Amino acid sequence: MRYFQYDVLREVSRFVTTHPWTRGDSALIRRETGLPFAAPETHTPWRNYSRIFKLCLLVSENDGVAIPTPIAQILTQTGAVTCDEYLHFLVEATTDPSPALTGWKAVSEGQPVRHPLCFALKYLLAKVAGLNEPITPIYEVIGAYIDSRFLGVEDDTAFLNLMPKRATYEQIGRNADPRQARESIKFISQISYLHSDGSNIITSLSQEDAMNIFKDIQPIAGPRKADGNLEIQRLAALFKDGSEHDFFDYKNTIISDVIESGFSEGGKVKKTHIVIERNSKLRDLFFNRTPTTICDACSIDTHKKYPWVERVLDLHHILPLSSGTRVDSRTGTMLDDLMPVCPTCHRAIHRFYDGYLKTETRKDFLNEKEARDIYVQAKETITKGVCYA
Ligand SMILES: [Zn+2]
Ligand SMILES: [Zn+2]
Repeated sequence: MRYFQYDVLREVSRFVTTHPWTRGDSALIRRETGLPFAAPETHTPWRNYSRIFKLCLLVSENDGVAIPTPIAQILTQTGAVTCDEYLHFLVEATTDPSPALTGWKAVSEGQPVRHPLCFALKYLLAKVAGLNEPITPIYEVIGAYIDSRFLGVEDDTAFLNLMPKRATYEQIGRNADPRQARESIKFISQISYLHSDGSNIITSLSQEDAMNIFKDIQPIAGPRKADGNLEIQRLAALFKDGSEHDFFDYKNTIISDVIESGFSEGGKVKKTHIVIERNSKLRDLFFNRTPTTICDACSIDTHKKYPWVERVLDLHHILPLSSGTRVDSRTGTMLDDLMPVCPTCHRAIHRFYDGYLKTETRKDFLNEKEARDIYVQAKETITKGVCYA
């Protein structure tokens, strides 16, 4: 799962666009990316990992040499796209069979392709839009995909007609238990409004927003190239800087107004950050693991100050918007990216970010390290001003 993590994919993109990745240079890629790329001495990392990066449309292959795609180029540009834009694109582009794997030939012989990630996301969205049920076992999605024979292009009525069978689907999925399907569903749970707890996917959207996103998802059609590597390049060339995609309006997201405004405007879902911070399931997981009442920034004990309020702390998501949420294959989203802060400090921290980014004339942090550094700076400034008299 680690190599499917969005910031790892960005790191790999940086490598493949600046270095020729050929059969031999294991040490170089390990050194440049800082990733272990565990492989036996007899195998190059390329042999073991190229499948992942082809599935993610970052590279194609020509005679053992990695050819970076336009997507790899775009992912190396900080702030050009967000994790959500990229993942929604992959949802629309991914096919079964896949041009990244053996078995692609069948497609040129006229076999129809299915769109497994479109199917999975549409299934989750339809379940919220139609039934207002946010929690879906991963096995249920897999079972529905196997049993329905849907291609992933079907409309909301068709998806809603599947819902009465959801208990059966879970059993079918459990019996089949394909590892790759489970991994790919965890992969898309990096989308800001999804969250995986390891065995379920939680969809944090209103019914209306879920329906709007459902209607925006459209699998990318053919004609397809018979050569899998050319097909990867064809698909990747369709990825633009996000302007083609209407799921989210990130272009003017200044981090602080994330707090002030709601996350649904004009029927469109907005602003990753607030979705993550208001994800109530995530809050429960966090506070169950870390039952603190103390603000990480100003250290007030909110329980002592407001004993009649059960949980007054906010969760601040420390990663930049373009990072996506961290997903750990065992535990679901990593909770280390979240900081418990009181609502006043939370607002002040976002204002601090705002001021910093304005001076830098940027809309987002470059990377996790910068986001953490600025958080620490904000915190130090807050602590200095606290009067303990
Ligand atoms: Zn505070
Ligand atoms: Zn925050």
